[in-house]
Amino acid sequence: MTERIFNFSAGPAVLPLSVLEHAQRELLALPGAGASILEISHRSKVFEAILQSAKKRLTELLSIPENYRILFLQGGSRLQFSMVPMNLLSADGPPADYILTGSWGKNALKEAIKAGPVRVAWDGKASNYDRLPGAGAVQLSPQAAYVHITSNETIEGVQFRTEPETGDVPLVCDSSSDFLHRPLDIARYGLLYACAQKNAGPAGVTIVIIREDLLERSQDSLPGYLNYKIHADNDSLWNTPAVFGIYIFDLIARWLLEDIGGLDKMYAQNCSKAQMLYDLIDASNGFYRGHSQSDCRSVMNVTFRLSTEELEKKFLAEAEKNGLSSLKGHRSVGGIRASIYNAMPVEGVTSLCNFMRDFASRS
Ligand SMILES: *Cc1c(COP(=O)(O)O)cnc(C)c1O
Repeated sequence: MTERIFNFSAGPAVLPLSVLEHAQRELLALPGAGASILEISHRSKVFEAILQSAKKRLTELLSIPENYRILFLQGGSRLQFSMVPMNLLSADGPPADYILTGSWGKNALKEAIKAGPVRVAWDGKASNYDRLPGAGAVQLSPQAAYVHITSNETIEGVQFRTEPETGDVPLVCDSSSDFLHRPLDIARYGLLYACAQKNAGPAGVTIVIIREDLLERSQDSLPGYLNYKIHADNDSLWNTPAVFGIYIFDLIARWLLEDIGGLDKMYAQNCSKAQMLYDLIDASNGFYRGHSQSDCRSVMNVTFRLSTEELEKKFLAEAEKNGLSSLKGHRSVGGIRASIYNAMPVEGVTSLCNFMRDFASRS
């Protein structure tokens, strides 16, 4: 198949076509290098320029203040589940507070438990992770080492609209599946991390934005690769970084700045795409049933069910035939999930909505 489908995969996920075309043009010989990005030293001038450009564009997109450092690491967000507590917790210090709004938050907690003292400040399990904590429901400790949240739960489709108030306690956020989908006030965060393969590039590179003072918590006894301070001191070049991922990330950042026009514009597009789907679900008289409560619905991962698993199977098979791909929900919750990240064109969502209306009318 050479035709491009509408790809609703949760990750690795759709990338902007113009970015792929740009990479294709440069694949055999990067301007100034006479070789591809895959073949040159990570210490070459050409790569150094790409790394600095990626940092500069990211800083511009999120207005990152000067007292933050940007790291390009490997190991995915799963490794951050361990690196965060290994660097920020101490065995005899105060625990970290974890707010669990879905599967990824639970996975983060599982790793943190191995590294140091932790506490569950809220757990959405009782309602099968269909909501955020209500006002006053979270009991945060003012002494906590940090507070960990998952800004967008990719599997359940539950998303924070604003950051929880944590006072002087650093807020740590797994932003893997909604990174760069809207502007953020970075000053509200101590650390924010995101694997690239949902909204910011190919698998293999993970972006960490960390407030400088927190680097002082990293102990020399940590294995080198797992130490944030070493990566910051070496500007992400302590070892060979994921060069291709950083290159693609830089192109995506450029696409966001120059083609889209910044994160305000991106957010407006994302909200209108999500609204089309949620409006259709709400108007379907229960034919489609959304998983998350309406006030915390994700604008990145739209999760819903049909009345029977058989009908869901039929839905998925027919969708696939119509060029609407990878709509199957995660195996742990089932149903349907439409991942509509930054790079999903509006036409993809329109096409899905038309299919959904037609499918409902025929069933
Ligand atoms: C995909 C995802 C992860 C896992 O990322 P890996 O790169 O596979 O380790 C973690 N958290 C969230 C919110 C995700 O969407």
